[in-house]
Formats: sequence, C-alpha cells, structure tokens
Amino acid sequence: MTTMRTKADAIIIGGGIIGVATAFYLARRKFGQIILLEKDVLLGAGATSKAAGGIRAQFSTRVNIEMSILSEKIMAGFEEETGHEALFDRVGYMFLLEDDDDVKRFRADYNLQKSVGLDVQLLNPEDINQYAPHVSLDGIQLASYCPGDGLGDPHEFLTGYEKGARKLGVEFEFGCEVTGIECKGGKVCGVETSRGGVSSPLVINCAGPQAGVIGKMIDAEVPVQPVRRQIVTTGELDFVKPFFPMVVDVKSGLYCHKESRGMLLGWADKSVEPSFDVSIDPDYTDAILEKALHRIPQLEQAEVANEWAGLYEVTPDHHAIIGWEPKVEGMFHVVGFSGHGFMHAPAAGLVTAQVLTGQEPSVNISKLCPTRFARGVVVEETNVI
Ligand SMILES: Cc1cc2nc3c(=O)[nH]c(=O)nc-3n(C[C@H](O)[C@H](O)[C@H](O)COP(=O)(O)OP(=O)(O)OC[C@H]3O[C@@H](n4cnc5c(N)ncnc54)[C@H](O)[C@@H]3O)c2cc1C
Repeated sequence: MTTMRTKADAIIIGGGIIGVATAFYLARRKFGQIILLEKDVLLGAGATSKAAGGIRAQFSTRVNIEMSILSEKIMAGFEEETGHEALFDRVGYMFLLEDDDDVKRFRADYNLQKSVGLDVQLLNPEDINQYAPHVSLDGIQLASYCPGDGLGDPHEFLTGYEKGARKLGVEFEFGCEVTGIECKGGKVCGVETSRGGVSSPLVINCAGPQAGVIGKMIDAEVPVQPVRRQIVTTGELDFVKPFFPMVVDVKSGLYCHKESRGMLLGWADKSVEPSFDVSIDPDYTDAILEKALHRIPQLEQAEVANEWAGLYEVTPDHHAIIGWEPKVEGMFHVVGFSGHGFMHAPAAGLVTAQVLTGQEPSVNISKLCPTRFARGVVVEETNVI
C-alpha cells in the first residue's frame, strides 16, 4: 500500500458513482488537489454495483425531471464528456398502470414532464405490445412511455468517470475507511481514517447508504436510510426482443428489462425495514418471480441465473440531498438518491462542482437543500420504484 497524502483541497468520502462523478467534475474545474477515500478495495462496491441500470426522466417533480434530462444528455455524449466509452441504450421506459389513482397521478406527471420538454407518451393498451411484446395487458388501463429513456451499465459509467478523474489528477485511496470528521471552531478541517488523518477545508459526503453514519460523526442528522432491494436475472430467453424497454408494473412494483440474453427482474418490497442487511431472502426472490410471471407469462420457461441484494439510500421525500451541511462549515452532502442515484450521478456531480466553484448550477437544486427537513418544506417524489 502506498503512503497516503495528508493534506488536500477536497476530500470525497465514497467511491460509488456519485463520489467518482463528483471528483471528475470538480477536477475538470481545476479545484485543486482532490482525494477520494473508499473503504472497500475497489470502486462501486456499494449500491452502484447492485443497480439495475435504469435511466429515466419520468419523475413527478420538476427538479428530478430536470436532473434526469441533464444526466441523459451527458450520458448520451459520455465519450465526448470524459474521453471514455459507455453505452446509454435508449430502449425506452414504460410504466404500466392499472388503478384509477395511478392513472390520474401519471396523467398529472405527463403534463408536468411535457411542460419541461420531455418526449413522453401515454399509450392505450392496444399500443403497448408493439413496444413491449409478451407483456400481459391484464387489468392495464394506460401506459406512460418515454422512448428517450433506457439503460446503461453502471460499471461502464463509473470506470469512465474514474479514468477521466485520474487523468485530471484525482487521487483514489482504497481500504481507507473514514472513521471521524475533524472540526475546529465550527469548521471542518479534515478526516480521520483507518489509514491515518487527512486535512482539508472541504469534505464531501458521497457515502451512499452510509451517508447518515458520516453525518453522525459531526452530530448532524442526515436522513438517509439504507433499505434492502433484491434483483433476479434469468438465463437465456429467446422471446425477449433487443428493443424491449424497461417495464415497470406500477401496481405490483415489479420492474424488468432485457439483460444479456435473458431478463433482469426486480421489485421494491415496501415492507422491508431499514437496515444494512444485504443477505438474500428466498421469499423476496419468490415474490419477484411470482409478480414477473403474472405480467410476462412466457417467463415460465425462465431459469434463475443470478440474484443479489443491495441497499437503496432513502430520504423521507425520495429526493436527493445536495448542499452544505448547516451544522458545520466545509461539509457538503451529495447523498440520498433514493434508488435513482445511478441515473442522476452525471447531473449530481456536475451541479455539485458548479456550486463548489461558485457557478450557477445547471439545474435549480434549491429543493434538494439539506435544511428542507428541519424547515418542513418537503415535496414528495411519488414516482419511485
Ligand atoms: C437493487 C438496486 C437496484 C437499483 N437500480 C437502480 C437503477 O436502475 N437506476 C438508478 O439510477 N439507480 C438504481 N439504484 C440506486 C443506485 O444504485 C444508487 O442510487 C447509487 O449507486 C448511489 O451511488 P452512491 O455513490 O451514492 O452510493 P454507493 O455506490 O453505495 O457508494 C458509496 C460508497 O461509499 C463508501 N463508504 C461508505 N462509508 C464510508 C466510509 N466511512 N469511508 C470510506 N468510504 C465509505 C462505500 O463503501 C461505497 O463504495 C439501485 C440500487 C439497488 C440496491
């Protein structure tokens, strides 16, 4: 292990997609010496490597739609942005709607999305199978479909940002757990780690599901809860077309898309209590398969190829927290993406770098401010998977 530097202009805690994208955009703005500290032995070992790869702009609030539109633009031109390839596969994203309440909600979202400039469509049941063949239309009243949304491999985007950041001089330290935050006179002055101390006037919390643990180090309440989510992938399936979109069955909470030669199936079990447990629950797997079979009966021929569990990083209003910690000077949070952090990472990294270098952010992120909970001015994102 090489000797770690003891002084930096910015410390980033966490080497997931959020921390690495933030490092890249800060370095591109010539911020000074940036060091990223990751407790694991490799980047992306947390939530990032567990993500399903969904990228969509169909949200219910303006700030989330705008974060997605910016991210999708960056992801579509990623090679130009970073010098490294990563595929944003625009296969589209479709929400299937059964209940009257969901139809009403998605019609309102559609109007907002249209007003922000999104190319979103409402499909009648007879039009659904041309985009998503083999999906059962049983009970479906309407679908919300955005052809410009799609899929990406989180690892490809993470690696692109990492290589770009390294080229710009960012230093990455692995096996380096931040164990404390040093403060003097109400100001951050560095961190304590399992490999020694590093001083810096700026510490950026990108610790994903562990964001609240970092907050506790300065007695701050960072309301991010870790919640287990599971995924199953199938073996080869000859009926899945290459253009099959990400499909979300809103009533059951099931989501699925083409993955390699089979399918990826996921479900947000809303009854799971917050914890850091990432063990695989066989009942959870069975529930995913049952919901998938109901919506795509041809999956009867599917075999389970792989399964895993990971942690969402959930805030009370399902919006990210991006901004200065009010308790101490010099601590900035980029956390709490509530299950959409892969898709929002490009925008989050960029707007963070803009704020930290005194520029107007490309998206108005005032609604993501850390103080909103204490002030009681929260707006719920309702379109959460
Ligand atoms: C099953 C599942 C499916 C998902 N699907 C999607 C999807 O389709 N689309 C989407 O956009 N998002 C999806 N997500 C959410 C997405 O994965 C996350 O929002 C995103 O990866 C968050 O990135 P992050 O960098 O904030 O967190 P992480 O990737 O968890 O990175 C945080 C890093 O901080 C490190 N760390 C923590 N504490 C410390 C410490 N004290 N010292 C040093 N390092 C520390 C961790 O080791 C970790 O590597 C999914 C998540 C799960 C679990």
